[in-house]
Amino acid sequence: MELKRQHLIDPVVCIRCNTCEEACPVDAITHDGTNYVVSFDKCTGCRTCVSPCPTGAIDNWLLVDQPWSIDDQFGWDELPLGQTGPGPAEPAPLPPGEVSDLLAAATSTTGPSVPPPASASKPYFNLYSRDKPVTARVAGNMRITGEGAESDIHHVVLDFSHNAFPFLEGQSIGIVPPGVDAKGRAHNIRLYSIASPREGERSGCNNLALTVKRVAGGVGSNYVCDLKKGDEVSVAGPFGQAFLMPDDPHANIIMICTGTGSAPFRAFTERRRRNAADAPGKLMLFFGARTPEELPYFGPLMKLPKSLIDVNLAFSRVADQPKQYVQDKLRERADDLAALLASPQTHIFICGLKGMEQGSDEAFADICRLHGLDWAGLRPKMREEGRYHVETY
Ligand SMILES: Cc1cc2nc3c(=O)[nH]c(=O)nc-3n(C[C@H](O)[C@H](O)[C@H](O)COP(=O)(O)OP(=O)(O)OC[C@H]3O[C@@H](n4cnc5c(N)ncnc54)[C@H](O)[C@@H]3O)c2cc1C
Ligand code: SF4
Ligand code: SF4
Repeated sequence: MELKRQHLIDPVVCIRCNTCEEACPVDAITHDGTNYVVSFDKCTGCRTCVSPCPTGAIDNWLLVDQPWSIDDQFGWDELPLGQTGPGPAEPAPLPPGEVSDLLAAATSTTGPSVPPPASASKPYFNLYSRDKPVTARVAGNMRITGEGAESDIHHVVLDFSHNAFPFLEGQSIGIVPPGVDAKGRAHNIRLYSIASPREGERSGCNNLALTVKRVAGGVGSNYVCDLKKGDEVSVAGPFGQAFLMPDDPHANIIMICTGTGSAPFRAFTERRRRNAADAPGKLMLFFGARTPEELPYFGPLMKLPKSLIDVNLAFSRVADQPKQYVQDKLRERADDLAALLASPQTHIFICGLKGMEQGSDEAFADICRLHGLDWAGLRPKMREEGRYHVETY
């Protein structure tokens, strides 16, 4: 299925002034007694009509699987937001092989068939490929690890301008580094988790942020970390259909991460903060780093209200302090975690370094043993119900 971008006029906002119909060079706009409408077959997307429109009603571009006809549009009282077109849904496209391989490796613990959380919104995926990427412009690039920190992690904001790029919290994008490898072949895609909620880094802006760690000798990470404001980047995706945020204010979400594994959890937390700050469901974050300076988003994280998120930090290399890892923090919070694990509304997400998976798993087993729960039975049950997700790289 290839989604199409359809130009539509918002009948609620339009004042029927006829300016756009006069401006359109290809006669794509017409009207009846009710609505001004755009013919999908004629419209070239040139945007000549956009700036003369006095209301902004003309500037709507929806992704659809089947374009709405002129007659459909004449019948509208409002734009059919949230619907993808009048036709029957076609089977979803398969992700390109190289992306499937990367995602399969990243989710190898839970396996490829793990379903998304039942309440998660339906994602768009594979809208843009390496061969047909979308161009984004760098709106900002900021180092977010402290001065003396060894790891160089950047917060990079990409602006998609008028190109539609719908995504959900937990999805990734593919960056295509320019140039060729030692054998003269175009570089493979590198995947980066989206660190913003679905409405964008700033609400209503068509942009998103990434959290990228510079890897010595790495092609993709050095390319992204060195991007300058205004640079153009080829982007594929969005990718991922399972590691998605539950869209239910009653969902308890236990988030466990190290380093850049925090990216999707920043998106989850910001989604809750903006849309359901008083939600009854709990957010618990377990975040491991060597030192506070190495922990991305340390400052902003410390400012979040305790009523929104319960933050547990584990530092493994702070002078004169015992080494702590995420599994130690999990054990420290055993009572609270056991209460959450007993609830069918609890979800676990693990993201970041592969090394922390086993430690977290053992900690959950110990916590369950202490509190009369059976982790060996609970873990596969949570997985089957789309409540246990691992994405490590
Ligand atoms: C689902 C998913 C989500 C991800 N999300 C994120 C994210 O949010 N943030 C993030 O930072 N990463 C993320 N990653 C990892 C990311 O995709 C890349 O793997 C990472 O940035 C390293 O890519 P690279 O191109 O810089 O390294 P590569 O060029 O692929 O190199 C890989 C390794 O080989 C070594 N190497 C390569 N060339 C040389 C050389 N000439 N000399 C010495 N050593 C060399 C590098 O040291 C490196 O360790 C994610 C991965 C997956 C699968
Ligand atoms: S975008 Fe261009 S072709 Fe489409 S309706 Fe507007 S002026 Fe006409
Ligand atoms: S220019 Fe704008 S307000 Fe006027 S008819 Fe066209 S869409 Fe409606």
